[in-house]
Amino acid sequence: MTAPAVSLVGVVKRFGDVTAVDGVTLDVLDGEFFSLLGPSGSGKTTCLRMIAGFEAPTEGWVLLHGDDVTGLAPYQRDVNTVFQDYALFPHMTVEENVAYGLMVRGVDKSERAKRVAEALDMVHLGGFGERKPGQLSGGQRQRVALARALINRPKVILLDEPLGALDLKLRHAMQIELKSIQRDVGISFIYVTHDQEEALNMSDRLAVFNHGRIEQVGPPQEVYETPRTEFVAGFVGISNVVPAILAEALTGRAEAFTVRPEKISLHVTGAPAPNASTCDVGGTVVDVVYLGMFTRYAVEVAHDTTLEVVRQNLDAPHRERGLLGATVHLQWGRDACRYLSEGSTEENQGGEL
Ligand code: ATP
Repeated sequence: MTAPAVSLVGVVKRFGDVTAVDGVTLDVLDGEFFSLLGPSGSGKTTCLRMIAGFEAPTEGWVLLHGDDVTGLAPYQRDVNTVFQDYALFPHMTVEENVAYGLMVRGVDKSERAKRVAEALDMVHLGGFGERKPGQLSGGQRQRVALARALINRPKVILLDEPLGALDLKLRHAMQIELKSIQRDVGISFIYVTHDQEEALNMSDRLAVFNHGRIEQVGPPQEVYETPRTEFVAGFVGISNVVPAILAEALTGRAEAFTVRPEKISLHVTGAPAPNASTCDVGGTVVDVVYLGMFTRYAVEVAHDTTLEVVRQNLDAPHRERGLLGATVHLQWGRDACRYLSEGSTEENQGGEL
């Protein structure tokens, strides 16, 4: 078996009293789009900077294709970083920006021109070479930064919130484009984001960070459908937590579980008779939020428990608001209940595939 593109082994990073990364073990495979997802301050960027070589771990090792690079400087590692602010040189043209790394290494002019043209084509910016960064849109600047990182074909590209400065529409377009470029070039991308939708959209696998530790690693569908901890359930998508007392009334098992809003059906009238494979609970609609394609309902099912439900807007528009205050029934399959205790013992097994 070939070695992973990047391995972090028992990595700890302390800044004085702050433990930014608290024992992370993780493998990123060759050609994989891998996201580090977590809230602000959870240690994602620090991990990325240790892979790049901008920070040294306090404990543990960083391996690139099986070689220990923990003590090597950034320029000695076959990785390039794309920063959120792009870090382009404003006085240079796009071509000069992209060629910069090759020029520093003394690559001759004709070879440079050829490779710059290739890199700009890769990011669909052929024909923009003469412009200055100030004459480009945010999305185009982002692609120049990516071309600059791609030009010497590193084994791994590290991206730190690269779409953070873009508006929502452009951000969505760039998510698709980045993923397709990554597939074309086949280089491992390690992508830092706090946006769960972005991580779910783009990644082959993702790691969910919390307080410097990894709570779960897996493909998007697995992390979303079977969160191992309450934190993962709440951070990756909306999650309803059903407390133990209500859980016992619904299922006979006195243990808290989570259930995703889209797994729950909401019935105003004519709810099917519950059976052994379903959960059924009555409640009052306390909030209705129209979201275009969907409407989100908050339904109070006990004095301390409100469940969120989403429904596709198949019916006539604006009918949903009439449900505010209505008494309804919620139903879902028992197989949609995720008992958190079932996954929590494997917490922080970041390296497992
Ligand atoms: P964000 O999404 O906001 O960038 P993050 O998950 O990337 O957050 P890090 O930037 O890795 O988090 O920071 C983790 C913790 O380490 C934070 O508490 C941060 O304040 C602290 N930290 C990071 N760099 C330093 C530093 N150079 N000196 C002191 N503390 C630091």
